[in-house]
Amino acid sequence: MFTFEKLYKMGHEEVVFFSDESSGLKAIVAIHDTTLGPALGGTRMWNYANEEEALVDVLRLSKGMTYKAAAAGLNLGGGKAVIIGDPKTQKSEALFRMFGAYVNSLNGLYITAEDVGTTVKDMEYVFMETPYVTGIPKAFGGSGDPSPYTAHGVLTGIKASVKRKLGADSLEGVRVTVQGLGNVGSHLVKYLTDHKAIVSIADIDATKTKMLAEKHGATAVSPDDIVTMETDVFAPCAMGAVINDQTISALKCQVIAGGANNQLAETRHGSALKELGILYAPDYVINAGGLIYASMHHVGKSSADIASKTADIAHTLDEIFAMSTSKNIPSSEVADHIAL
Ligand code: NAD
Repeated sequence: MFTFEKLYKMGHEEVVFFSDESSGLKAIVAIHDTTLGPALGGTRMWNYANEEEALVDVLRLSKGMTYKAAAAGLNLGGGKAVIIGDPKTQKSEALFRMFGAYVNSLNGLYITAEDVGTTVKDMEYVFMETPYVTGIPKAFGGSGDPSPYTAHGVLTGIKASVKRKLGADSLEGVRVTVQGLGNVGSHLVKYLTDHKAIVSIADIDATKTKMLAEKHGATAVSPDDIVTMETDVFAPCAMGAVINDQTISALKCQVIAGGANNQLAETRHGSALKELGILYAPDYVINAGGLIYASMHHVGKSSADIASKTADIAHTLDEIFAMSTSKNIPSSEVADHIAL
């Protein structure tokens, strides 16, 4: 149930519900913290089981964005939006334009972008109603899809994690499993196979898995097996809470380093990973590449500046891993300290 107590506990400033019966829009925007700047975060469209589930998701995701921007050294706050509905059947121009008009009514306190279930095309409709959107098509002067940049940042983070845990200077011959082959996962698979890693992949969409396995020479695996199969690096690139009470004792990896948001179901799972000797690259640190790209592009920074900031993901992870070892605290907690 929605309570102010919950907002105080998680630190949110504002939660706004947008509804429009004629287009079927049911959206929630959560603005977590604007201390560093306007709240930037994508819009997720998902067929949530109920409204409570959507609210919990947007509260968790928006808080993650505050930490992500802070840890990446960006002058941005954290926010996120969810649209309740099936992205395969319930999208329309009217729905995204109405959403854009509502975002506009927040006067720039919240800046949106694409996320799971939404695309650059959807953001084009949002842009018709508000300038407070990034990730719009390049033809409109926008940054385009940030996902390849997210995937590139994840690759950088996987390299840093592998160096730390396995002492390897390259990914050649390193086994990596990728869960989720959407915007981020599909690019990551390409980058990993280009680096000669041994890659196993799974998506709940079997056609996608088969197509990418054939295209990049990866091994197709069942989505039921991907989380717990024996591997060097497990790269979650699907939905959140993949590290939970059910999966944690069955993990057979040395490193967890992937693009998904909110990988730990609860904070205590970060401690459990440390006890198991699994090196965890905190999600909002390793997956900041898209945010770095979109926000720096938005203010006209050069490609060189963006590349240098993205490379910093590896340096931040090095710092986190070193502190986690020297202070004997989980990497997830070190990341939170740095962000705060
Ligand atoms: P997407 O919707 O394009 O892809 C997600 C994929 O995961 C889909 O193909 C879906 O079928 C698959 N999937 C869902 N549940 C699964 C399961 N149980 N097993 C296997 N596959 C499953 O989304 P995306 O943009 O690629 O984002 C993926 C993750 O990365 C999300 O958690 C997102 O919040 C996070 N993220 C994305 C970006 C970005 O730039 N797109 C940036 C930062 C973080």
